[in-house]
Amino acid sequence: MKTIDAFDKQFPTEDACKAYLVAARWPNGVMCPRCHGKERIYHLASKPFHWICKNLGCGGKNGYRFSALTHTIFQDTKIPLIQWFKVGYLMLVAKKGVSALQLHRVIFGKHTGSDYRTTWYMCHRWRSAMQGEVIPLTGEVEVDEMYVGGKDKNRHASKRMRMNGSSGKVAVIGAIARKGMVIAKAIEQVNAETLQGIVQETVADDVSLVATDDHSGYRNLKKRGYPHQSVSHAKGEYVRGHVHTANLDSFWSLFKRGIMGSFHHVSKAYLPLYLNEFSFRHNARHNPDAFAELLTTSNR
Ligand SMILES: [Zn+2]
Repeated sequence: MKTIDAFDKQFPTEDACKAYLVAARWPNGVMCPRCHGKERIYHLASKPFHWICKNLGCGGKNGYRFSALTHTIFQDTKIPLIQWFKVGYLMLVAKKGVSALQLHRVIFGKHTGSDYRTTWYMCHRWRSAMQGEVIPLTGEVEVDEMYVGGKDKNRHASKRMRMNGSSGKVAVIGAIARKGMVIAKAIEQVNAETLQGIVQETVADDVSLVATDDHSGYRNLKKRGYPHQSVSHAKGEYVRGHVHTANLDSFWSLFKRGIMGSFHHVSKAYLPLYLNEFSFRHNARHNPDAFAELLTTSNR
């Protein structure tokens, strides 16, 4: 597997992982994770990758000790960092998603001394670290909702049906800037309040287009000042010039195929984590520094 080779070259040892983590977290010099001070930070000669902060008020008279792992998802872990990194790295390069079981086989092969549940745990920690900040989307933005677990057949008819809340399916809403970022989240209710709220949260005021389908929940977007246009999926209209949700449709189908193909079943509780994963990967698709940036967001 090519990606494993690339990984092994870049991260041959535990120390290589720690050095990379330090450079990613503190590119301008080691900073105390407690008081955020950069002065009076002393390397502990006896312990590599450990420091002591002697800033007043941080750690009392003996100072505050921390390591490269303090306040990251790896803090207090008994799992070697090289395994953590391998899992996170392979998740990031697996365009279609990869299950813990697949990763476990790739990393450990038939080695029986390792527990699949450990890999599963690491995957989930990485997914929670993949929650991006919401930066309002600009340009032409598509917004659309969909349901996870439903049959794709009669999707649009069933959307309306499920609005009444009788189904156990989970609703998800996404907003995508064409050629830009995607933001996706699970929602409890598909109604005007929720849909408009998501648009207000994720779309910049100076957006040039908000394209949706004809769900009634988007009806008041124009009144709120958004350049809103919709296509009527109910009437079989999917594209009218610039007005369509094709980019988001592609993202959703990748997400659904990923879930079905790799995970088969996703419980409602974990859905936000999988949305994090797929969104992060989409948003990082042209970013060669994505792994380093993921490490910097892995702070608790
Ligand atoms: Zn400090």
